[in-house]
Amino acid sequence: MGCEGKALRFMSWGKKAVAVLLGLASAAMWAHTVHAIPARGLPTAFSTSAASDSAYGRSSGRTSEQNLWTCWLDGAPVHKKPLPAPNIVAKVARAGQVFQAETVEATPFGTEWLRLRSGETGTPLWVPLAYVRRVAPENAMGGDLPIGREQIGPYHGLPLDYCPSDLVLLPARYCFNDEPQRLRAEAAEACRRLLDAAQQESGLRIRVLSAFRSAQTQAYLCRRKISAAGIEQRDVARPGHSEHQLGTAVDLTAANGLHLLNERFGETREGRWLAENCRRFGFVQSYSRARAFREGTPYEPWHFRYVGRLNVERFERTLNER
Ligand SMILES: [Zn+2]
Repeated sequence: MGCEGKALRFMSWGKKAVAVLLGLASAAMWAHTVHAIPARGLPTAFSTSAASDSAYGRSSGRTSEQNLWTCWLDGAPVHKKPLPAPNIVAKVARAGQVFQAETVEATPFGTEWLRLRSGETGTPLWVPLAYVRRVAPENAMGGDLPIGREQIGPYHGLPLDYCPSDLVLLPARYCFNDEPQRLRAEAAEACRRLLDAAQQESGLRIRVLSAFRSAQTQAYLCRRKISAAGIEQRDVARPGHSEHQLGTAVDLTAANGLHLLNERFGETREGRWLAENCRRFGFVQSYSRARAFREGTPYEPWHFRYVGRLNVERFERTLNER
């Protein structure tokens, strides 16, 4: 996730009609089918619906840092029910507004929502997960995060101003269309070795399309994707939740640009070589086909994350244990 990848692929009218029908079906079923997300991969605080006494928009002395989420989009809707329909919007939230959540829940078709408790009426309110971010306490300690041990995902975000101090420019010859890209120094060195090996061992010319991205750039990409595909989109990460902000993730492409940010890249010679050889250079595929099949994450054969050779095995084991 976190890739601009399919941001330009707009929904067809046919798909929109299906989405509306699914929305209506969802409206009829919501009371019976909303369910809490399984505990795996979630902070403990979200694994139960243990009530907090914090009210919507306020926080009490017992506020748990674990449960705090921040709205990142001005005008984000707060709903009376976990449905995208506009007639159940209770109010709108400001960017920067903090919510105390009771739990994260999923509606049919994969849309996730934060459940809040309303201070005024005692009935819950809901915010689409698409509009909120959460800074994991372990990511807010200050300083550069340890490479290969960073915790990042849909529920574990980075501070918006997190930017590693050791970003370096990749030489233009490694970058697609010579557009400069930045990575953390250790990841940049590994990336150069990876791309040099592809050329020397198999004659493949592979380039970096995208590397470090700030949370501000991510917010732009995410807003654009939600406008095109709705809150259920899972291709573009929310600001603070993209591996690209770590400064260790890259989107790669063949120098000829064939199947750019497309699943078919995985079937090209370049895509197959990378899948087979990336571990030797300390890279892993965060969004493999196997994980996509198992967890419904996007399949992104172009996205690679540097974790260091010593961490590859542990990292892949963790992914497989999810
Ligand atoms: Zn990516």
